[in-house]
Parts: sequence; C-alpha cells; structure tokens
Amino acid sequence: MNTSLKIIRAEIVSVGTELLLGQIVDTNAVHLAQRLAELGISVYRRVTVGDNMSRLVTALKQALSNAEIVFTIGGLGPTMDDITRDALAEAMGERLQLDPAIQHRLIEFFQQRNVTFPANNLKQALVPERGHPLNNPNGTAPGLVFEKDRKLAIALPGPPSEFLPMVQNEVIPLLRDRFPDLGVIHSRVLRVTGLGESLVEEKIKDLMRDENPTVAPYAKTGEVHLRITARALTIPEAEEIISKKEAQIRERLDERIYAVDDEPLESVVLRLFIQHKRTIAAAESCTGGMLAERLTNIAGSSNSFLGGIVAYSNSAKIRLLNVPPERIESFGAVSAEVAEAMADGVRQVFGSDIGIGITGIAGPGGGTPEKPVGLVYISVAGPDNSIKTTRNIFLGQRNEVRIRATQTALTMLKDRLLSCKDDIIGDG
Ligand code: AMP
Ligand code: MG
Repeated sequence: MNTSLKIIRAEIVSVGTELLLGQIVDTNAVHLAQRLAELGISVYRRVTVGDNMSRLVTALKQALSNAEIVFTIGGLGPTMDDITRDALAEAMGERLQLDPAIQHRLIEFFQQRNVTFPANNLKQALVPERGHPLNNPNGTAPGLVFEKDRKLAIALPGPPSEFLPMVQNEVIPLLRDRFPDLGVIHSRVLRVTGLGESLVEEKIKDLMRDENPTVAPYAKTGEVHLRITARALTIPEAEEIISKKEAQIRERLDERIYAVDDEPLESVVLRLFIQHKRTIAAAESCTGGMLAERLTNIAGSSNSFLGGIVAYSNSAKIRLLNVPPERIESFGAVSAEVAEAMADGVRQVFGSDIGIGITGIAGPGGGTPEKPVGLVYISVAGPDNSIKTTRNIFLGQRNEVRIRATQTALTMLKDRLLSCKDDIIGDG
C-alpha cells in the first residue's frame, strides 16, 4: 500500500421512501459512487433511508461518525416530506439561516412564471450558518455544504436533471480543490473464458489477498472477468501496479485470458482468423444462428466468416449439410458423430478452412438420463480431416445454455487458431 496516499472515507445517504418501496432505482447514488471512485475517494457505505426525521438523523449521525464526507441525495424539495436540510442541521448541531440572495432568486423564479410565491418554498432558501449553498440552475433547491469539525456534509437534490449537473459542475471541482493529493482509483479487466469461476479463483486465490491492487472475479455467462483495481497518485502509477499483478495472473491463466477491458470474444476470434488468413463457416442446431449472429456483429467479419446454416431438423442436417442419415439413426442428432459431420459438412458446403458444428439439447424438455438438458456437442473441423469435439453439459435455462454453447464454440475456435495446449473446463 502506498503510504503517501490519503484515504478519504465517504458515505452516501439516499433519502426517499420511494427508494425503499422499490418504485425508483437509486441511479444517482450509482453515478456518484463512480465519480468518487475516479477521484480516489473511498465510499465505505451506502444507505437508504425513508422520509422519516428520526431515522434520517440517526443514519446521518452514524455516517458522520464513520466518514469524513457524507453525501445526501434527495429530500431538498419544498414539501412536508422533504426533510434532509433539517435532518442534517440537527445531526451536525448546526443552525440554518435564510440566505437573502437565494430568497430573492426564488421569488423572482415564481414571478417570472406568474405564480404566487408558495410559502413552503421559503425553506429552500435556508443554508447552514457554517457552510454554503451549491448553485442549481436547473431547479429551485440549491445544494448545501455543511462543514464542522473537519467533516463535510454535501446535500444534493433528487431529480437527476438537477443532481447530475450539480455533481459535475459543483461537487467535483469542490472536492478536487479540497483534496488535491487524493490520487486515483483505476481498474483493468482481464476477460477469461474456458475456465469456470471456481477454478479461476482456485488458481489465483493467493494473488487476491492484497489491498492494493485488489483483484475481484465477476462471473458472467460463459466467462469470468477479473477486475484489478489500484489506488495511486497518478494513472500511470496505478497502471504500473496493475501491470505487475496482471503479469502474475497471466503466469497462472495465460491461455485462458482472451482480452483486456472491453473487447468481446467474437472480436478476438475474428481478429485471429483474419491474422491467420483463415475462413470459417458455422453449422448450428440448438444455438439457432447465435454464433453467426455474434460473429457478424463485428465489423469486418466478411473477411473471414463465409456463412452459416441453421440446421434444426434432422432432414435439414441431412439435406443441407450432408450428414449421413445412418449416423443420426445410430447415434442420435445430439451426438459427437453428428456434430463432427455437421462441422465437416458446412466446411465443404462453404469451402472454408474451418467448419464448426453445434448440436445439443437446450431444454427445458427433451432430456434423458443419458442425454440430459444442457448436453451440447461442439466440433471444429479443419483441413486434413483434423477434427476436435467437446462434450459439454451446460447449466441454466434454455437461453443460458445457448449462450454458453456459443461461448464455448468461440473459445474452441480461438484455441484452434492459437494451438492452445490446455483444454477448456467450464463450471457448466
Ligand atoms: P426529492 O428530491 O427527494 O424530492 O426527489 C425528487 C425526485 O427525484 C423523486 O421523485 C425521484 O424521481 C428523483 N430521485 C430522488 N432520489 C433519487 C435517486 N437517489 N436516484 C434517482 N432519482 C432520484
Ligand atoms: Mg423525496
């Protein structure tokens, strides 16, 4: 851990019964948390409280004892249930006073609209004695900054149209000015496929213990993302800390890491095909064209992807892909033998270097003890009769099985082009 870095702890208190009822989603807190992370401010806790004075005061007192900066979101409006201003004053032992300039602006705002000034709105001109308002050109309620005993409380309005510009134009500059040596929090994501989450974790468990950088695995359908996050004074310093950890992780997972940050697997596969000057065609049964869809989603796919056939019925497999009917009779449509015939068949139909065949049982019906739901055979056929087939049993609902099958198909294509030694092992 870099000891020259100051840790500033923050808490976010979202206020509003509508949040607790699940009627609206706390998008403001998510946004604020992201912006604070970029600044290097550590959000230690987020809480949500209804429009209730005593519970809010309790939550604010707690937050103020935990953190150096407390943000509140919402409850600055003119109505009875807007209590954040008063609750913060009480929790901080501060007094509110009328700000004549804000009062003037409010009266003017209503005059311009030919509306009698509602007395309720006067409370929006109240500001803390020690503190100051934050400009709100998009609404009537200014934001508020309370300062006491080296603690900072920043109250922000709830409507996103007011909240977002206030964060950008008032809060971020204020924090940068107040904490110039905060540094940054920076992340990099290593994308892993062909290895299930638990195996990934097992292989790198001992590398996940540091506090800086932290390493966190996120399981996605058919892949695992490893987020490495570092705190440092500057982005290049953070990159250096991350790169060291990345190198250690690569020693353990190398071939299974297919990309960094945002590049999807299909894009990596196509890049490899173009690089190796190879073409590909796909024969799909249970994935129904999902593989072709993912490949053609990438610009430039026509350089390598020649085409695909969705051969769902047995007769389509026989007529369009030249799968020998006796294979289907002897082994069933979901079998290694048929997947291989599909891969080889589509390769010949399109005249591609590589052919891929996918056949399986996506469910929910159609499974048997020998051939359960989720069973998918995937074959990759190349020149000189070289062929590789995997037997997979994927977990999940119908669409998840299809996504996992597509993902494994892409992983097999990548492995084929990179001549990977390791076999893929999923969590299902
Ligand atoms: P308030 O400032 O509490 O009166 O909230 C006014 C409106 O802003 C609410 O009715 C919501 O539509 C929206 N709002 C309040 N809090 C949030 C939040 N945390 N995230 C997103 N929208 C919010
Ligand atoms: Mg509210």
